[in-house]
Amino acid sequence: PTFCGQPLVLDPGELEGVDVAVVGAPFDDGTSNRPGARFGPRAIRAWDDEGRHGRPHLRSGVDPFSVLDVVDHGDAEPAPGDLNRSHEQLAAVLRGVLAAGAMPLVLGGDHSLSLPTLRVLAERFGPDGYAVVHFDTHADTGAELYGVRISHGTPFRVAAEEGALLGANIVQIGLRGTWPGPEDFAWMREQGFRWHTMDEIDERGLDPIISDALAHAAARAPRVYLSVDIDVLDPAYAPGTGTPEPGGLTTRELRAALRRVGREVELCAADVVEVCPPFDPTGITALAGERAALDILTGMAMRRGA
Ligand code: MN
Ligand code: MN
Repeated sequence: PTFCGQPLVLDPGELEGVDVAVVGAPFDDGTSNRPGARFGPRAIRAWDDEGRHGRPHLRSGVDPFSVLDVVDHGDAEPAPGDLNRSHEQLAAVLRGVLAAGAMPLVLGGDHSLSLPTLRVLAERFGPDGYAVVHFDTHADTGAELYGVRISHGTPFRVAAEEGALLGANIVQIGLRGTWPGPEDFAWMREQGFRWHTMDEIDERGLDPIISDALAHAAARAPRVYLSVDIDVLDPAYAPGTGTPEPGGLTTRELRAALRRVGREVELCAADVVEVCPPFDPTGITALAGERAALDILTGMAMRRGA
């Protein structure tokens, strides 16, 4: 299956005029705990259960597939056991998508894939040319993880230290748990990172926090990279992920938030990562990931005045 039954277009030369190219990133060598996110793209695509294109979102009346030209660009070739090579191969695909004027929507795979994404965005737009809105339990700003520099716990740290990501251009939403530690948060503060914890969401409500995050992102850059780690959801809604942490968003909250992001800022890249099918016996995590991607597209279509 392709994503939501959209046409399969593997040749980057045929992406001219396409709005969104869905790209699978089936690797998980950056995972620290429970592996299996390499099977995420396959499981997300398999949730094209209803052939929904042509049927609009109930409330908005918007069918993203009648507004946006969306294609499935297949998978970036993984190199099992060689995370850097998997990253290089994903980066090459992302460069081709952006060069064609399309937006990549990446299905992970583990969250280390944000590192090549940030590098490619910095190449194309300059480090000050894009902002990041990042939904996650984890800041993914570790200086290292188990002594390893490049993993799913470090992409935003490595990219910032390389100069590809400006710390003042990223807003993180949904943080909770006990990782990373105080030194890493001190580093983030120095760099100008902004973040909104689940505790703050409980106190203030999600909507005003999304408003703050989008206002900050829009003030910093003309375009936004939206990165969605499915573990921002409570494990009751998304058990199938590598590093679950109780106390997260509901699927309903995340879906509405993603439609807002797509509608209210100009996206240049997006991803849904860390869906881990071996720990997802009923498929609800992959379903949540598939609907999250669909809501990003619905928001983008709403932005076009549909
Ligand atoms: Mn993450
Ligand atoms: Mn996470």
